[in-house]
Amino acid sequence: MTADPVSLLRSMIEEAGRIVFFTGAGISTESGIPDYRSPGGLWTRMQPIPYQDFIASEDARLEDWSRRFMMQAVFSEAEPGKAHTFMADLIRQGRASAAITQNIDGLHERSGVSPDRVVALHGHGTFSRCLGCGERAELDDMQRIVDETGLSPRCETCGELHKAAVISFGQALSEQDLHKAINYSSDCDLFIAVGSSLQVQPAASLPLVAKQGGARLALVNGEETPLDDLADCVIHGQIGPVFDALAENE
Ligand code: NAD
Repeated sequence: MTADPVSLLRSMIEEAGRIVFFTGAGISTESGIPDYRSPGGLWTRMQPIPYQDFIASEDARLEDWSRRFMMQAVFSEAEPGKAHTFMADLIRQGRASAAITQNIDGLHERSGVSPDRVVALHGHGTFSRCLGCGERAELDDMQRIVDETGLSPRCETCGELHKAAVISFGQALSEQDLHKAINYSSDCDLFIAVGSSLQVQPAASLPLVAKQGGARLALVNGEETPLDDLADCVIHGQIGPVFDALAENE
């Protein structure tokens, strides 16, 4: 008799020694943060601002900041969901090594995962960094500067532009983060991708890296992904209820 997919994933988790989680926007929709395609979502109403435009134009920078402040208001209202909490528990117990994420909402860290166990491939929408010296600044302080001066903020130390710490269109991913993600993926025995359409790089290749390293692959998503045929376990369903069911026997 074949086990139902949730029971199968539960037993795969019990048998695993080193789990790696990979997450996309779908893990945060039940926390109130729309994914890219949700009708009327934050992102569908606006064309993205490419990195080169941010560098070249003060108007583009001010538009980018006003979007960042709006998104930060949504991120700070959101609470981590069942899946975030489930992952944080397994990472704390040492049964999972990391959460690699495409998300910029900071919910893995807020669910209790130590920042050195989160690889945020698309950066962070919850704080800012100087493009020159890398100094971190908080978005509240950036907003105060924009409100008071009407200008985009610059670094107090080196005078270069500040920018929300996200990877914008046209901006390269961090080599260091990419290496970390590849290392975690090749050194696990179970790779669980949650809430990602697995259609863009490097999301589409990390499950393959894990598979090539001998790991089993599990996918939890509301719709099909291009890697479903390759996976050892596929669950098509709402993420919250799936992780509620998984957590029942934990
Ligand atoms: P994606 O490619 O990761 O797709 C999200 C997937 O999740 C879709 O297949 C969707 O059907 C599924 N999904 C959504 N809600 C679900 C639920 N409750 N249960 C089960 N499945 C669910 O992500 P995207 O939306 O195409 O976004 C692309 C990029 O945009 C992200 O990688 C990220 O950089 C950025 N983004 C980030 C956030 C965030 O930080 N929370 C949100 C939106 C977009």
